[in-house]
Amino acid sequence: MTNDDNARLVDFLEREGVLKTKRIIEAFTNVPRHMFVLEENMDNAYADYPLPLMKGATISQPSTVAFMLEYLNLQPGEKVLEIGTGSGWNAALMGYCIGKKGNVISLEIEKALAEFAERNISKTGVSNVTVLCKDGSGGYSEKAPYSRIVYTVAVDEVPVNVLEQLKIGGILLAPIGIDNVQVLTMMEKADKKRFKKKYLGYFQFVPMRSS
Ligand code: SAH
Repeated sequence: MTNDDNARLVDFLEREGVLKTKRIIEAFTNVPRHMFVLEENMDNAYADYPLPLMKGATISQPSTVAFMLEYLNLQPGEKVLEIGTGSGWNAALMGYCIGKKGNVISLEIEKALAEFAERNISKTGVSNVTVLCKDGSGGYSEKAPYSRIVYTVAVDEVPVNVLEQLKIGGILLAPIGIDNVQVLTMMEKADKKRFKKKYLGYFQFVPMRSS
């Protein structure tokens, strides 16, 4: 894997119109995907499709990750909750986007993946991500409220207690649906009880598991 392979992917995502924002482009450039894939998939690290990890998890397709990051519109210093760490790639990209004053908390139910993600993230120099080995179905109220919450696992709904963990004015992204395809849904918290919803299209994520 060379820097050229990553540069080609970034260039492709920009030409496709998925990657737009300077800070996100810098994140993709500085947090290279090959650090987050299994050794046997190294040759395909920069292909625009998901790749298997362990325990049935996958590292998402780069264009999906870029698409979600553009809608998340992360700002420096924000506190972000991710549910479904997987490889840690998205968590590290978000950590890069929010800068040193920001903080990402990412929840992963599988110990092997939480440890894998921590090792991967530490290779990148991004140091503001905390991976917790935990069932994320109820969010993580201990560190709430968050200005952004992102699910990278499919859920049939977002529970009220997770919505409560979002700041007013904050954004939540979740792939919602129980079949093998989900509607990526964006919710902006207008006030304590009201959310502005936007449907961003159909995607496929691995389903949330419970402990
Ligand atoms: N964002 C990841 C991809 C996530 S794949 C990346 O960048 O690589 C979805 C992950 O969610 C899997 O690792 C799976 O083990 C995890 N997961 C499934 N159910 C979960 C739950 N209830 N709580 C936390 N993590 C869960």
